[in-house]
Amino acid sequence: MSVSFQPVRGMRDLIGDEAQVFTTSIVKARQTAECYGFCEVITPHVEPLELLSAKSGEEIRQRMFIFKDLGGRQVALRPEFTASIARLVTTVLRNEPKPVRLFSVGTVYRYDEPQKGRYREFWQSNFELMGSARPEADAEIVLLTNNLMMSLGLEGYVFKVGHIGVIRGILSQDGVDEKTQNAVLQKMDKKDYAAALELVESKKSRAMLEGLIAIKGCNWRETVEQMQSYVADYPSAKGAVGNLGEILGLIGESADIDVKVDPAFARGLEYYTGMIFEVYVPQIDIALGGGGRYDRLIETFGGDPTPAVGCAQGIDRVAIALQSQKVSRAEKSVKKVSVIPITEALKPQALRIAQQLRFAGVAVEFEVMGRKMAKALEDADKRRVDYAVIVGERELKEGAVMLKDLASRQQSIIAVEKLVEKIKN
Ligand code: AMP
Repeated sequence: MSVSFQPVRGMRDLIGDEAQVFTTSIVKARQTAECYGFCEVITPHVEPLELLSAKSGEEIRQRMFIFKDLGGRQVALRPEFTASIARLVTTVLRNEPKPVRLFSVGTVYRYDEPQKGRYREFWQSNFELMGSARPEADAEIVLLTNNLMMSLGLEGYVFKVGHIGVIRGILSQDGVDEKTQNAVLQKMDKKDYAAALELVESKKSRAMLEGLIAIKGCNWRETVEQMQSYVADYPSAKGAVGNLGEILGLIGESADIDVKVDPAFARGLEYYTGMIFEVYVPQIDIALGGGGRYDRLIETFGGDPTPAVGCAQGIDRVAIALQSQKVSRAEKSVKKVSVIPITEALKPQALRIAQQLRFAGVAVEFEVMGRKMAKALEDADKRRVDYAVIVGERELKEGAVMLKDLASRQQSIIAVEKLVEKIKN
């Protein structure tokens, strides 16, 4: 009986061009990290369950891949990077001078219902800026996301921005406990406003939230002004709106970014305390990335009080966005060559030529199937190879090989030492 193995539900194989899009996106994320002064860290995929569930929020807690290792430890696959980064900052990096800027990229795991753009294993690039409570730190995180979107070649993307302190400020002042607040925010994250309002017992608070949800401005300045006067009697919420205005002011000064303020915007992760944002492209209605400020997480993990702000981009969704905008990959800069010895006896010399080409930065597929010339050339065509280097006895005696341009079908005898120059130009 033959068995046809498939990947685990919600997990994918990425092959060829698709894998290349991911690799390119990862390179761009890494370049952005470098450009903004972030240091890369590589942390384990498996972490103690206790660490991951400490402050991820109920929703993500319920969607983790949890298991016991053979030593009986409760562990889980990371559903995000922030908990691992917080672990670093509260332990080995505890005494690092602030701010600390850390970058990570890799796969994360959530037991989501699989659909296009939603997988159970997916790739994130992640940036955390720790040690500053100032609005310029928030602005930097949004600006670097903008930089990354731009360098990927995406167009028409919009930042949706809000501030968790506005909703929490209203609810806290009216005596709504934190657990209820978290539940309300989760419903609001799902845009289930009716269910969110139902959870709020205080009539005053409910009416305030309802009014907040209804605020719409033509541009971010107008929305922030409306929010400012709306929460005038709520000092903490008012402070939050002021902070949001300051962050957006800084961003507006330094970049031409399309920003929409959504006063009722909430995000699934419980640890956010301040500005939150997501970035969208018009072609798909799921966020490509998002983040926000989380000032108390490091304390929760036993570290010194450390204000922090961070963001993550979903590379699987970036790939979908690139495809929907038909962003073509940059032309291959590396030329691809097939090196084919005409006879068995010429294999050593042919391999030596292949190695010379590789050292000079030419990609070589060596003929490893022992095929006859016609078959080998047919195969090279299928593999979209630029040139075939045919190593024959007669030419080799003269220190030369036959070079065939597979696009133009032209061929010529070339001295081995001129080969690299000819292929590269
Ligand atoms: P979060 O860690 O929830 O803030 O998510 C950050 C980004 O990760 C999102 O904006 C998405 O681009 C991506 N993401 C989240 N969940 C998934 C998923 N199940 N499949 C693919 N990408 C996801």
